[in-house]
Amino acid sequence: MTTSIVRYGYAPFMLLGINGTAITLAAVSAPKILLLGVLGVAVVASFAAERLAPYERSWNESQHDSVRDAVHVFVNETLILVSVAIIPILAALRGGHVWWPTSWPLWAQVLISIVVADFGITIVHMLSHRYGWMWRLHAVHHSVTRCYGLNGLMKHPVHQTLEMVGGVAPLIVLGIPTPVASALAVCVAVQLLMQHSNADYRVGRLRYVLALNEGHRFHHLRDAGAGDVNFGLFTLLWDHLAGTFSYDPTRRFTTADLGMAAKPDYPTRYVEQLTTPFRAAGACGPMGPLPRKPWRARFSATTPPARADGA
Ligand SMILES: [Zn+2]
Repeated sequence: MTTSIVRYGYAPFMLLGINGTAITLAAVSAPKILLLGVLGVAVVASFAAERLAPYERSWNESQHDSVRDAVHVFVNETLILVSVAIIPILAALRGGHVWWPTSWPLWAQVLISIVVADFGITIVHMLSHRYGWMWRLHAVHHSVTRCYGLNGLMKHPVHQTLEMVGGVAPLIVLGIPTPVASALAVCVAVQLLMQHSNADYRVGRLRYVLALNEGHRFHHLRDAGAGDVNFGLFTLLWDHLAGTFSYDPTRRFTTADLGMAAKPDYPTRYVEQLTTPFRAAGACGPMGPLPRKPWRARFSATTPPARADGA
């Protein structure tokens, strides 16, 4: 009974309940501390769902990574909050005409911001699997050996900044109002919690449209080229268009499937993960073009497309 409630109630609770509450609070210009409170509820719900209805029970156990991941989350969430806080300053510097539809209902404005941010962040993510200097930074995120909620913010802060620039810069140019950006920040955090969640929640055929955990586990496959799929943050729209969508409903994942085959001993301590991208050990060669593989053919292929770094 409890499992069924989590399985089918978790996604509506997070996507509609948490995000809806954040949008409502932003619409009435509620104190920012309340938005942080909503975020706190989302984190607690994420951990609870993973324990009540786990996809892989062992992924709920720390692999000597809990404290490190908590530091990653603190640093990167702070970066997100700072980026929202400086939006009025950036808007003042930008000046000029505002293209943003400020007369629309706030929920519609947030939806637009999600579409724009999804495009920008997904493109940066795709490029991070294409260019060696970006992959060095992004490799930190791909060193995970389990998928659970906090993995979403387990990133090198420089790479997190690159993704934020890709997602937020277009919004600044368009003139996004701060309340919309505040609600968007909560939506991004909720999405990251859900995308990497170890909760065995279900969304039916929406798994082909929304970039949630069922599809994102394929992105963390360890073998060469196999993980160059499902790059989207909010949606899989750009993956369908780029031919990088992949899904197999029969596929099960364990720790042995995750990580980077070419770098099985990637540093696990926080400070080492910050410095490795700038050291020889974090090097990798230039990569080939992103694969264009229709999802139907993907799992009938015998040889996955090679990535020069073998990761
Ligand atoms: Zn990636």
